[in-house]
Amino acid sequence: YRRPVFNFAAGPATLPESVLLKAQAELFDYRGSGMSIMEVSHRGKEFDSVIKTAESDLRELLSVPDDYSVLFLQGGATTQFSAVPLNLCTSPSDPADFIVTGSWGDKAFKEASKYCSPNLVWSGKSEKYTDIADPDSFASRQNPDAKYLHICANETIHGVEFKSYPIPKNKNSLLVADMSSNFCSKPVDVSSFGLIYAGAQKNIGPSGVTIVIVRNDLLGSAQPSTPVMLDYKIHADAASLYNTPPCFGIYVCGLVFADLLDQGGLAEIQRKNEEKAGFLYGAIDGSQGFYVCPVERSVRSLMNVPFTLRRSELEKKFIEEAAKEGMVQLKGHRSVGGVRASIYNAMPLAGVEKLVAFMKDFQARHP
Ligand code: PMP
Repeated sequence: YRRPVFNFAAGPATLPESVLLKAQAELFDYRGSGMSIMEVSHRGKEFDSVIKTAESDLRELLSVPDDYSVLFLQGGATTQFSAVPLNLCTSPSDPADFIVTGSWGDKAFKEASKYCSPNLVWSGKSEKYTDIADPDSFASRQNPDAKYLHICANETIHGVEFKSYPIPKNKNSLLVADMSSNFCSKPVDVSSFGLIYAGAQKNIGPSGVTIVIVRNDLLGSAQPSTPVMLDYKIHADAASLYNTPPCFGIYVCGLVFADLLDQGGLAEIQRKNEEKAGFLYGAIDGSQGFYVCPVERSVRSLMNVPFTLRRSELEKKFIEEAAKEGMVQLKGHRSVGGVRASIYNAMPLAGVEKLVAFMKDFQARHP
């Protein structure tokens, strides 16, 4: 690791050094074309190969079944908060179920109310989104007529992650997940979801690319008012080239997918992520209460680790001193405060080890 800082930002977030160096080396002259990949036609042979390879590598990483489309879209995960109900509900009166385990799931739920009739099955708000109840305990609150059940697989701000997925009781058994902040962090059985979406800027590339993986039988019944840019069928039929896609971002995502395959695929990535997260949570739990993680152990995120200092007046100093030592962007989200260490795929173990050593030293200096 050559860089002077370890970047613990929640997104845009750190990317693999090897990917940045490769993008840099190819930036001026993409593989002998005499042009940058940002300058070539999205319908030309260079970009055709970039997007096809990115898609096939992602399919290999996640073992995406053949009856699913992989779309490279724009607008961030936030756009999917409206695109999902527009595509999966035939009219705004169709019901859809939502389990809300943090701020992002709540935003998805609120936006959906413009395009469907959302039913709040369960919310963790009263417990400040620090836990996820046993799905069996609220299964009876699902609407059997709901078109889908929506979850946020990993809540980036609160650090709460589903370790197993609830079973939809709706007639189509359709589970939909926002995987923005844990996409490609571990193997996922895509066939148990109707639709998965993720903004790129945490685990797989620069902001500007949004991935949608959708089962093909769900395409083609969008509400009549659906804008073309939000209609999955239009993008699936055009292989994500209906209009000009975010070419450079897709290129970088492709470099990341190739890197994840080189590392051994998502089972190996999960092993590394569990090692890093285990080390950091272990340090928090072993601090005799100096550091506190509010999240219930069984649902702690492997990606976003929020914690506070028992002496909250020290938090500002902690974040400032860490930054001076090259560990940056550790401030918790403005809505919850405290500290948050995002340790996505591209955060090396050395970064977590350095943070843990700093935490121990800081504690020793503030008895
Ligand atoms: N969902 C989750 C889980 C997120 O972490 C974020 C971004 N932090 C969003 C949705 C919104 O994504 P975007 O900014 O790409 O619209």
